[in-house]
Amino acid sequence: MPQNELEVHDPEILAQARAVLDACQSVQEMQQAVLDAVSRNEEWRGQRCINLLAPEAPTSPTARALLSSEVGIRAAEGHIGAVNRWFVGTKYIDEIEALCIELLKRVFRTRYADHRLMGSMLGNMTVYAALTQPGDIIMSAAQPFGGHSSNRLDGPAGVRGLKIVDIPFDPHELEVDLDLFRKMAPLVQPKLVALGLSMTLFPFPVQAMSDIVSEWGGHIFFDGAHQLGLIAAGQFQDPIREGAWVLTGSAGKTFSGPQSGVIVWDDPQLTVPITDAIFPVLVATHQVNRVAALAVSAAEMLAFGEIYMRQIVRNAQALGDALQQRGIPMLGAHKGYTRTQQVIADVRQFGGGLEVAQRLARANIIANKNLIPDDKPENWDRPGGLRIGTIEVARLGMGEEDMQTIADFIARILVENVAPEDILEDVIEFRQPYQRLYYCFDNGLPPA
Ligand SMILES: *Cc1c(COP(=O)(O)O)cnc(C)c1O
Repeated sequence: MPQNELEVHDPEILAQARAVLDACQSVQEMQQAVLDAVSRNEEWRGQRCINLLAPEAPTSPTARALLSSEVGIRAAEGHIGAVNRWFVGTKYIDEIEALCIELLKRVFRTRYADHRLMGSMLGNMTVYAALTQPGDIIMSAAQPFGGHSSNRLDGPAGVRGLKIVDIPFDPHELEVDLDLFRKMAPLVQPKLVALGLSMTLFPFPVQAMSDIVSEWGGHIFFDGAHQLGLIAAGQFQDPIREGAWVLTGSAGKTFSGPQSGVIVWDDPQLTVPITDAIFPVLVATHQVNRVAALAVSAAEMLAFGEIYMRQIVRNAQALGDALQQRGIPMLGAHKGYTRTQQVIADVRQFGGGLEVAQRLARANIIANKNLIPDDKPENWDRPGGLRIGTIEVARLGMGEEDMQTIADFIARILVENVAPEDILEDVIEFRQPYQRLYYCFDNGLPPA
């Protein structure tokens, strides 16, 4: 097959895939090519890498098994209940979904929760569809401070036709500049202020900002995509109790459930607009296998969340300090590095975020490039930072002392300029004994 003129995906990788398919003797061989790629990933990323991607979390064995359960082929549009559904045959599905909602309410200590979002991206679209009109003004953070596209012009907020004003940030303290916000916000009177970032190291002044915007009937919307698990487990801040109107988050980041979205709120007035935006606007069939996996992940959060989430934060703080000690400048070093699962390295002196992430990956250490406050939004492809997260290493049972070893690997490559290939075997050997996932009913707590 010839090459199309315009592909956004890497044309060489697509060409390779075409060559693989062309070389197959049968369609079944084509299927086998897919299965082989999945196996290669499972062996490499699943067993031989140190995964430090901040938004990545392994689900428990039980949650993962549920993702291939029978219920995943069943169709269940609409709201729970015999009359509210389009299809019949959903009595057990109603039970699963109701258990999921009630578990989410317990985990987040809220009056309402919804389980149908296929991603937190859709959670944010739900908020904008339900609670704004085109032309409204909102405030959100620019990308170099960690702002996410979903709350910017290029994402759902932009698609909704909102006018977006930047929340002022203090680039050194990595926190909202509250004094400046107090001056700016009344001038634009935003209807919503989106807090919560893809790069979140420290808590937000939710209560103070909520008090400010309430003067003109504005509200705080907390996008807790990354911090959802920390919030659930009481290990970060509690946005709803601090005055946020609605909280969205990713189920597959710190929350460690199946990749998808969660939305919770307390105000009964929001229930109809939010649920009307979810169905029939943004989701129809919503993957009941995923809902079941989300429900068991919520139960795990109730039982193990506090100790699990505390460990990922401790690991992040230990890793941040160990990297800084080895000559890699870390953001927020003067204030303890982080209160979340993330730490951010300024890697401009080592070649920048893209180059560094690719070099580390050659040693099976997986982290991602990230914009930092000194970057311009257009530095997106080649930013100055590296974002490192500790969810997976914690769930594999690693503790603070293991972070010293991981920092050694990283520093050998970046600071001592050792070729990544020369430490690859050491990384694989270090990772080898950590193959079991903890903080779940399958395997309990990690050995002391
Ligand atoms: C990851 C992220 C999202 C999108 O979440 P998905 O679950 O991937 O759809 C939204 N907002 C922020 C701040 C994020 O970091």
